[in-house]
Amino acid sequence: MRLPRSSSLEAIPSVSGQTVFNTDVLPRVETKHAIPCLRCGECCRRYQVRLDLAEGQRIAGELGLTGEDFRNRYADRRWPGESSLLVRQEQGCCPFLKRSGEDGDELCGIHSFKPLCCREWTPGLDRRECQAGLARRWGITVDSSGELKGPDERIRDLRLFMDSLASDRRI
Ligand code: SF4
Ligand code: SF4
Repeated sequence: MRLPRSSSLEAIPSVSGQTVFNTDVLPRVETKHAIPCLRCGECCRRYQVRLDLAEGQRIAGELGLTGEDFRNRYADRRWPGESSLLVRQEQGCCPFLKRSGEDGDELCGIHSFKPLCCREWTPGLDRRECQAGLARRWGITVDSSGELKGPDERIRDLRLFMDSLASDRRI
């Protein structure tokens, strides 16, 4: 079943002290400085995904699992909600995040059917998650106006990388 797109996104504290996506309440957060996803995986470490039961069932089906098997394998048992489930983390990140190749790109392993909140998340230079990934992987920072700060060579390489990713939204 294809779920209707939500135009809203909320971040709320999770039971583990991290943050949880909630697609029901607050207006979607827009980014002022959109970029292609740089595949750092930071957002998939910092957030846990919350699924309503229908979306959990949809993803279970895509994985060839029953709803019960999906919950047993992927649900965070600390989540008290009954009308939704929280995807647990493994080794500090979403269990569907996959490392790819020698360059260490981190990509969504269920990209073609990933949760709505992940599909609606847009990368941007004003997002602290993307900034953290830039600093960790590229040694580049971003000032308050969205300007890249770092060695010219690194910034040039990053811009080339961004150009190569412009039409690729695999995470
Ligand atoms: S489902 Fe995919 S995009 Fe969403 S948090 Fe997990 S790895 Fe990241
Ligand atoms: S670049 Fe941004 S959206 Fe892409 S994985 Fe990193 S934090 Fe997430």
